[in-house]
Amino acid sequence: MPKVMIITGASRGIGAATARLAATAGYDIAINYVGNQQAAEGVAAEVRAAGRRAIVHQADVSDEAAVIGLFDATETELGPITALVNNAGILFTQGRFETFDADRLRRVVEVNVLGAMFCAREAVRRMSTTNGGPGGAIVNVSSAASYLGSPNEFVDYAATKGAMDSMTIGLAKELAQDGVRINAVRPGLIRTEIHASSGDPGRVDRLEENVPMGRGGEAEEVASVIMWLLSESASYVTGDFINVSGGR
Ligand code: NAP
Repeated sequence: MPKVMIITGASRGIGAATARLAATAGYDIAINYVGNQQAAEGVAAEVRAAGRRAIVHQADVSDEAAVIGLFDATETELGPITALVNNAGILFTQGRFETFDADRLRRVVEVNVLGAMFCAREAVRRMSTTNGGPGGAIVNVSSAASYLGSPNEFVDYAATKGAMDSMTIGLAKELAQDGVRINAVRPGLIRTEIHASSGDPGRVDRLEENVPMGRGGEAEEVASVIMWLLSESASYVTGDFINVSGGR
């Protein structure tokens, strides 16, 4: 059976690094993005250069119909989906919680929580052996923020990752006998463009001395853990978390 993976938010950062590794592990890949088509096409070209098939599909994960469109297009063009990397996520400017307006709070929940739920639901509907699917594995890209809480930075974002962690635990138990494993990674300070959205592009340089290992992480170091959790080497692992945070 061909291995088919959907990676949400695969145009940049951790998602793009995962696509590169997944191609070398033999996956055909749907590269999802929301606005940056050129970057997504670049990642797809790398996947194809590694000998695998790739599609590029624009979808805002907070839009239910768009998520269903992403899963339908992937099945039509690549075949039954066996892996989901629930990776798309956003955060906003650093600040104190009492200053965050309703639009901001609504948007971070819509993308990070509702979007992850739409994607996990579509994956389960199609992968579950009870529903006639091929089985598979999901990795949710949570954050060290879920256990640190991100005070004075983005408590709202941290709370969305806490929700993702609860979904990981419950869904893993619910699907444990349906051929679908669900786990999460919790990255720490990783060098990607997400920090620019917090108004602090140099955030990793500024904070890395506080990391027990004394440095920020690279997207590839998260991607390799995601790939292990998706692999047969992790066949008895579900409902679990791996912190990829240099000990933070
Ligand atoms: P990034 O470099 O900012 O990339 C974000 C990706 O998500 C892009 O591909 C972007 O697409 C996509 N995206 C954003 N909003 C979307 C939406 N509504 N629908 C679909 N795609 C959307 O971020 P990253 O650092 O790689 O983060 C990836 C995940 O890791 C996130 O869930 C983040 O919370 C988590 N994480 C990151 C860190 C870190 O230090 N970097 C730490 C902990 C957790 P476009 O290119 O089209 O905009």
